[in-house]
Amino acid sequence: MVAATEIDVVTDLKRRIVEGLAILTGEGIMDGAGHLSARIPGTDTFLINPRFPGILADPDDICTVDLNAKRIGGRGPIPSESIIHAILYRDRPDVQSVVHCHARYSILVSLLDSGLIPFSRTAASFDGVPVFPESHGINTPALAERFIRSIGDKAVALLQGHGIVATGPTVEGACINGLNLEKASQDQITMMSFTTPKPLAGRALGQSNERLENPYRMWPYLLNKHGIRPRAAIKASIHSLPEGEHY
Ligand SMILES: [Zn+2]
Repeated sequence: MVAATEIDVVTDLKRRIVEGLAILTGEGIMDGAGHLSARIPGTDTFLINPRFPGILADPDDICTVDLNAKRIGGRGPIPSESIIHAILYRDRPDVQSVVHCHARYSILVSLLDSGLIPFSRTAASFDGVPVFPESHGINTPALAERFIRSIGDKAVALLQGHGIVATGPTVEGACINGLNLEKASQDQITMMSFTTPKPLAGRALGQSNERLENPYRMWPYLLNKHGIRPRAAIKASIHSLPEGEHY
């Protein structure tokens, strides 16, 4: 029998996945393809939207999948690239959520010899963005093994000519990593039309995990922007840092 608290956790994760899909689509980095998943804590399973446009998924449509990328719950069908998510949850205990989509500017950057240049705070926040040098959909164990070696311990990766994979410590954090990767890619492509971006001098590489666990500014802003929850409910859900604390 499944414990009541576990059902609550799954219900909450399904709602957050649906909200994340709405934001990724509203922000234009996800279209009819693309998927967002979340690990079910304490299990070898995860939740993922099925194989139709993410914006149309309701919580009841979200499927449960094991670490062999086999559907064990929900109506399905699940995405053919579910194995991207499965291998990240298998090999990266730090990863709690994964986004894969075909973000346009990131695809352009994935085709540049330079890859993403850490020329801005957003671009530098990733501490290096590997490029997986194969454009094929990642839908076999052999491709997934090569992909996991390529991303290593990084938060995000570009898939050459194909798209992005973004991970995070929460559903919201993975979405924000994906959105920031596409934003940095768009800025780089724009800047390259008139100059060559240079790495930011004296930059502090790396990310704040706390900010991805509790993105109390960007996520409420996006929920409100896309009309996903009533304004009062969004405000009530914000957990700001106390005055004097910074990250
Ligand atoms: Zn894909």
